[in-house]
Amino acid sequence: MADPALPATAEPARRVLLAAPRGYCAGVDRAVLAVEAALEQYGAPIYVRHEIVHNKYVVQTLERKGAVFVEETAEVPEGSIVIFSAHGVAPEVHREAERGKLATIDATCPLVTKVHKEAVRFAQDNYQILLIGHEGHEEVIGTSGEAPEHITLVDGPADAATVQVPDPDKVVWLSQTTLSVDETMETVDALKGRFPNLLSPPSDDICYATQNRQLAIKQVAADADLVLVVGSKNSSNSVRMVEVALGAGAGAAHLVDNASEIDEAWLSGVTTVGLSSGASVPEVLVEGVLEWLSERGYADVELVQPTEEHIQFSLPKELRRDLRAEAAAKAAG
Ligand code: SF4
Repeated sequence: MADPALPATAEPARRVLLAAPRGYCAGVDRAVLAVEAALEQYGAPIYVRHEIVHNKYVVQTLERKGAVFVEETAEVPEGSIVIFSAHGVAPEVHREAERGKLATIDATCPLVTKVHKEAVRFAQDNYQILLIGHEGHEEVIGTSGEAPEHITLVDGPADAATVQVPDPDKVVWLSQTTLSVDETMETVDALKGRFPNLLSPPSDDICYATQNRQLAIKQVAADADLVLVVGSKNSSNSVRMVEVALGAGAGAAHLVDNASEIDEAWLSGVTTVGLSSGASVPEVLVEGVLEWLSERGYADVELVQPTEEHIQFSLPKELRRDLRAEAAAKAAG
């Protein structure tokens, strides 16, 4: 029987569970700041090889400021400045830039560089490296380029069941930084089943930002009828967050670039919306989604923050050197 104290039409309160940490990680922040600082220091155009980070809004904003995005180093005019994206590049790309007499600024995230260094070291020790990652992703292409003869891509548990190595006792696994933690461990378990002496990397390759965002979305998803992740379709960590949300019990989960991509029909019967954003997403896009939801009755926002982040990376060394030189010249009068 209905409670007579409640109005007959009372509905459960609509709310948003806002995940934290979300959005920009230290590597993305540094890469975007590097392009902005280069534009200010050297003037436009500044060439950027590939999307500096996988987010349309960020790329378009930098284009308006004078950044020119290219697919290949060969497209950059001789003598120009080119920035390498946060995802990292193979050594061959550095050599191409040298041949083209380009000045380079390397905005590769230090946590991707760490994986490159591990790959070089294990290859020198004659290990076969099973690199868990997604075929065709820029980071995987860059890491594989460090030791192509020694690296075999393993794109999920199915690949783990069939991958062949020259010596089953001399294998190590490494991974792309932006994978799903749970799925990666599934792949590692499958590999260990086949190669009992498989070596693990000295520390996690899946970066702190990916792990923290996945942890937060898991908590949010457990109580959400619908989860929205703000991020671009080519952003690996954003796509993984949608998968993690579904795996953690979200009624439904969608990836949207911004509020204009939300389908009003998704809200049908939804009381609790979970919201987060990928590591390459500026907060302004999340604010747009919050506003869109508020206009539809989801004005109550609760923060869900299982971890805090305080990591920051300094600008690429080439930029720091030139900024220091300019400051010294100014000080000298
Ligand atoms: S997601 Fe992780 S590895 Fe990628 S740029 Fe951000 S901090 Fe670096």
